[in-house]
Amino acid sequence: MRLTRSLENLIEQLQKLPTIGPKTAQRLALHLLKTPEPQARALAEAIIQARTTVRPCSQCGYLTESDPCVICRDLTRDTTLLCVAEEASDVMAIERSGYRGQYYVINKEFKLMGDRSLEDLDFSALLSKISGGGVRELILALNPDIDGEVLARYIAGLTAPFPVRITRLAHGLPVGGDIEYTDEITLRKAIEGRKEI
Ligand SMILES: [Zn+2]
Repeated sequence: MRLTRSLENLIEQLQKLPTIGPKTAQRLALHLLKTPEPQARALAEAIIQARTTVRPCSQCGYLTESDPCVICRDLTRDTTLLCVAEEASDVMAIERSGYRGQYYVINKEFKLMGDRSLEDLDFSALLSKISGGGVRELILALNPDIDGEVLARYIAGLTAPFPVRITRLAHGLPVGGDIEYTDEITLRKAIEGRKEI
């Protein structure tokens, strides 16, 4: 099948997105071509705008346009609780559960079988947060799979010299599941039922 160069390029770019296969990419590209021009342009501009203005917060790693982020600026939050999450999407899910402490977002995916080793992850900002003395409990909100397990033990080892309670979400989270896609009630129960490791 021969496509015009621009259409081919659009399909190619869409296909690079997660969960988008060749057929979906083609369907989306054709849909975009039928979309009124201002709407298509708004999508393109929203991508560029978000890509240029959204950055990880220098204090917690959550995504923000103003630094520090809205969570770090919120003086009503419990600064003695520090929740370690893998991605900003996990923070969004945990926020929906009603958690009111602080965060530390790793922002780098760790896979036991991947090409990144634990030493490639930089936890110096986390350690300096804890060494400040204000943190009473470190809640490891890592995915309930083997990678999360390895990461949890690694972080527990790194933070062992500090007088801080280390807990991990457990109750109700499906093994092999994903925090990002866990509903807020299950997640709230998991936070409430966190266990010391
Ligand atoms: Zn922040």
